[in-house]
Formats: sequence, C-alpha cells, structure tokens
Amino acid sequence: MEFATSPEIAQCFPDLHPAMDARAAVVEANRCLNCFDAPCMGACPTHIDVPGFIRKIAAGNVSGSARTILDANVLGASCSRVCPVEVLCEGACVLHGKHQKPIEIGRLQRFATETFYDAGGRLALRQRDERTQRIACIGAGPASLACAAELRQQGFQVHVIDRRPLPGGLNTYGVAEYKLRAADSLREVEMVRGLGVEFETRDVDAASLEELEREYDAVFLGVGLGAMHRLEVADAHTAGAGIIDALKFIAAYKTGTPLSIGRRVVVIGAGNTAIDAACAAKRLGAETVTLVYRRQRENIPAFDFEYDHALREGVEFLWATLPTAITANDTGLVLTCVAVTQDANGHLTSQPGSEFTIECDAVVPAIGQSPLLELLSQVRGVTMQRGRVAIDRATGQTANPKYFAGGDCVNDGREVVDAVADGKRAALGIADWLLARMEEHSG
Ligand code: SF4
Repeated sequence: MEFATSPEIAQCFPDLHPAMDARAAVVEANRCLNCFDAPCMGACPTHIDVPGFIRKIAAGNVSGSARTILDANVLGASCSRVCPVEVLCEGACVLHGKHQKPIEIGRLQRFATETFYDAGGRLALRQRDERTQRIACIGAGPASLACAAELRQQGFQVHVIDRRPLPGGLNTYGVAEYKLRAADSLREVEMVRGLGVEFETRDVDAASLEELEREYDAVFLGVGLGAMHRLEVADAHTAGAGIIDALKFIAAYKTGTPLSIGRRVVVIGAGNTAIDAACAAKRLGAETVTLVYRRQRENIPAFDFEYDHALREGVEFLWATLPTAITANDTGLVLTCVAVTQDANGHLTSQPGSEFTIECDAVVPAIGQSPLLELLSQVRGVTMQRGRVAIDRATGQTANPKYFAGGDCVNDGREVVDAVADGKRAALGIADWLLARMEEHSG
C-alpha cells in the first residue's frame, strides 16, 4: 500500500520518544531480572513473554526477540508506541519495589520489532494445512487485524472489509502522529496481508451484513465506534465550519490534508483524544490552545502522562467549565461558558453570574464517540448491552453463533492492546466453533 507522510507533517510531529540504539537496548535488557511468573507479562492484555523477549535482546538475538513479541501480539510494533506502559507492563515491573527505574519494556519492544521490520523481517506462517472455511472481518482496525492474522495462521481464508480507503482503523487515522505514524500502522497491515489475508474497501450496512452472513462461515464484528458525540450547545449550527470533530481533525492531518484551525483553538473534553487533538493543534501552528473540561483536574479521563505532556506542549486548561453556546462574529467564534461546581455524587451545577466568553477560531469537540447502533442493532440475533455488542467473554461469540465481536464495539473504547487481545480471543473462539461444527457434520 502506497502512503507517504508529507515532509511538513513529519517535521511538525517528530517521535515523542527517541528510538533506542542497539547498545542502549542491550544495556537496558541486561537490567531485567528475568522474573519467574513475571508480573509485567501478566499486566499485558496480550501476555507477551516480556522476560523472554528481553532475554533475547540481551543475547543479541533481535529477530528472535521480535518473533516472540509478534507471536503473542501481531501489532506488537504499534503497541510498543501507543500502549500506556506506565499503567500496564512497566507499571507492574518489580523494580518499582526496589526503588529502581522500571525496565523500559515499551522502548525495548519497539527496538526489537522496528529493527526486525527495518531489516525486512516478515511475520512467519505457522505450519498448518489450508482450510476451506471463510471468515469476514468487518472493520480493519486492531481487533480485526489481530483476529484475521490468528485465523490465517490457523489456515482459514480471511477477508477484511472496511469503508475507509486506508486500513488500520484508529492506528492509521486516530493516534497522534508523534506516537504512531500512519505509515508505521500501514506497514503492520502489510505484514498481516503478507500472511494471505485479503483486504477490501467498501461500505457494510445491515443488508450487506446479511449477505456476508450467507456467504461466509463466520463474521467478526470489529467495527469500532461511530461518530464523535455532537456538541449540544446553543447556536452551534451557526458556527459552521469552525467546529471540527477531534477525530476528523486528527485523521485529516495524518493523511496529509490538515484542516485549517486558525490561531486560537479551544478543545472541549479531557480524554486522551482531546489531548492528542490539543497537542496537534499546537504543533500545527495554533498560538493558543485551551482545553475546556467540565470537571476538575483530578477527574480527567486522560492518563496523567498525557496531561503532563500537554502541559509541556503549551496547552492551557480551564477546569470546571461548561460550554453553553457558540456564536460567530467578525473575527471568528465566541464560545460562551459557565463555571460549574460538582457535588459528592458527581452532579454538576452551573454557578449563576459566572458566565464568560472565549474568542477563538476553531472549537474542537472531543467528547467521546457513540456506538454504531444503527448498524449493530440491525444484525440479526446479535444483542446489545448499554450500547455495546454483548459477547461471551471467553470466546467473543455473540447471541447469533455465526457472529463474533471484539475491540471498541465491545469494550466501548479501550487501548489498542485490548483490541488486539479481543481479536485474538475471538479468532480462537471462531476456530473452535468452526472445527466443532465440521466434526458434527462429519460425525
Ligand atoms: S517485572 Fe521487570 S524485572 Fe521482572 S521480568 Fe518484568 S521487566 Fe524484567
């Protein structure tokens, strides 16, 4: 797949964390205690053999190290860049208890996988026979890619279908470029394609899902979430083009067509996507970026390290502030806000007389995504619970046995590594189910 990051974007978004060189990687790998029953491994949703891959780096076997990682997590390269390692593997490292710096597992994982790919390494096909059963994976994000790779490794015929022109889902379109470049996400997709997975770009609606259900032996729903929630404030419709959905804003610059945001930007929300959008606005030239959040600092959904990063990038924060209206004037937009207080139950109350305005050129809502209810609620026999596809947690199977699901449409938007774990678990569930059916029919 041909895709190149533009030089301007590459210049604005250099890597947040520098890559490790081979010497530094060996030194760091040699600090690892190779713990028995390693807690870092248990903290990884895909259970990568962390001490195992680190031991191989220490021994100079970088490709063996990469294979250990990719065997457990086919998106091990992107996870090494985007995982919140501080709260996963590195957060569990025993060296914390010895008052030492935890092992830099994420950077070591990145070193191993990127060195391997840069040297032309490819995912190895396991020994297996080709099987005739066909599986359609809907969506080409991390959950579907992990599901497709595992099924293909078991010899099944797999077809990934996505409506967007570039595969990779949020890894390609939705992660800040200084964490994961779209080009790197697409390189991983090529590795999955190299296993023999087929990719197709087309829209899938309820009618075509029924067709797929007839045509394929099983269907995996890895459709992610839908559009960003609409900003429900007065007069928002008059502000027109100045209101830019955070995910559209991020996707546009990552794919080479940055949207114009002007000099003064207000981001609404305080999750990780809000932080990514705010930092991107700064890097793309905004002079002031103000992040407005209705609760206090201690309530933000973003990870602490993301918040600290945004402070370093120059993003300003307005806490306990609720937007109430947006109007346009001669110079741009006027966002009206009101101060709010929060009681012990989390209920917010507007403070009378506290109204104030912020003049800006763009308002970027980042207030969460809605589930794809329109599509999912029409899938025959598949049930939903609180906007998520209901599945058997052990197998990923839905109430319609032919459908399996995983990723954001099941977990409501967690980490890439959670989506990978979901996809792989569903692949194992699909394989077991198909093989059991085959035995039933032949018995
Ligand atoms: S917990 Fe830390 S020291 Fe122990 S195996 Fe994992 S990375 Fe190495």
